[in-house]
This record gives sequence, C-alpha cells and structure tokens, in this order.
Amino acid sequence: MADRPHGYARYKLDGCRCYTCGWAVATYRDQREQLVRRGQWQPFVDAAPVRAHVAELKACGLGERTIAALARVDRKRIRELLHGRTERGTPPPTRIRPATAAALLAVEPTPENLPPAAHIASAGTVRRLRALVAAGWPQAHLASRLDMTPGNFGAALKRDRVTVRTARAVRVLYDELWNTDPLAEGVTLQAVTRARNHARTSGWAPVGAWDDETMDDPASAPDWTGVCGTPAGDYAHRRLGTPVCPRCKAARNSHRIEQRAA
Ligand SMILES: [Zn+2]
Ligand SMILES: [Zn+2]
Repeated sequence: MADRPHGYARYKLDGCRCYTCGWAVATYRDQREQLVRRGQWQPFVDAAPVRAHVAELKACGLGERTIAALARVDRKRIRELLHGRTERGTPPPTRIRPATAAALLAVEPTPENLPPAAHIASAGTVRRLRALVAAGWPQAHLASRLDMTPGNFGAALKRDRVTVRTARAVRVLYDELWNTDPLAEGVTLQAVTRARNHARTSGWAPVGAWDDETMDDPASAPDWTGVCGTPAGDYAHRRLGTPVCPRCKAARNSHRIEQRAA
C-alpha cells in the first residue's frame, strides 16, 4: 500500500499527527472559518480554497457525485468550480457564492461517507475489537460475526490500516455487543474468562476507557482509571488491579523527577 503524502488526506485517513499534516488541517479550518465569516457580508468569496478542499476530498476517495450530495450542491457547480465551463471555454471561477463555499467546506471525509474499499487508520477498529475481547467476547466469536477466519481477524488486529468496509462492520458489531453479556449469547464461562484474561495480559483497554468521540483518533489514549495521565493514576490502577498504563507511568516518572528537584 503506497503511502499518501503528508497533508489533509493523510491526517484524515491515516491519522497522521505530524507537523505538516496538522498544519494542513489547521489551515483548512482557518480558511473555512474566514470564508464563512466573510460570506456574511460579501456577495462572493475567494474560490481557490474551496477548489483546493474539493480536490482534497477527491484525493481521499470521495467522488464528485458524493460530494455534491453531501453538500447539497448541484454537481454542475462542482464541475464548474474545478474545471470552469468547458463548453464555453471559461476558466475556473476566482470567486464563488458564500453559501456554496460554506456547504462544500463543511464536507469532510468520514468512515460513513468514504467508499467501502478506501483504506483508513485502523486505530478505532482495533480499539473496538480489543475492548470487546476485554468484555469477554472470544476472538473466534467476533471473527465469525464479521465473516472473517480467525487468522484474518488476528492479522487485522495488527495492521495500521483497514478498509472502510471493515471499519463500518466493526462499528456495527461494537454498538451491538459492548453492552451485551456474552454468557447470555451462548459463550461459555470458560471462553469468557479466557478472553478477559487475554485482554488483561495484553494490556487491551476496556470499553469504559474510551470516549466515543475520540476513539477513532489515533493520537488519543485510553483512560482506564478516570485519572490516567495524572500522578493519581498509579494508585488508581493498583486499586483496579490493572497494569499501569503508559500515560500513568510517564506521569509517575515526571512526578518523581519534580520531587527530586524540589
Ligand atoms: Zn503527516
Ligand atoms: Zn493510566
């Protein structure tokens, strides 16, 4: 799988949080805000940033038809924005209606609107599956629910990227199972215990450690204790009987260094 260049698409699809990617997304958000604000008192705004955003969306795998539907903008307007009116020989416009600009800039690639075969960062998918194992769901059971062989399932848990198709299927499965008792679904007590133990020894975060909003962001980290990443986390982990997580280890170390310095 070839790597995407750093920028908007890589930030959105691969979850890269490097300086270049962060800068690209910050610039886009800045321009979106500015154009929306300017549009409130101007009949036209600059078309260039809107054109660049539509090109980014296309680079992410969104077709013009999809972009038009999501923005509720006529597809002809999008074609004109990108290529001008070819039948009249007019070049792409330098200015655009503020409402059209705002609608197009509001479209962003998500697992819901990307094509099923597109590849995205696996973080949210892997976290959901691991959290289900931590809840007592055996990997073989999850694999069969996803129409995967146990081998493919195991491999999927280790990859950096998954297809949008897999990400969606895992979301649906997670929403169905996270709050369901595996014993009530016919999983044996022995299999439930084995799954839970495997998750614990592997350091896989449970459902409760994740926020729905940040679960798909590769840069986010689980909060096992409610106080992870603070000096209190160390003790909270020991009370819960879970291994100290990397953020709590870091917090403990920097706390010690501060104490020594004091
Ligand atoms: Zn990057
Ligand atoms: Zn922690």
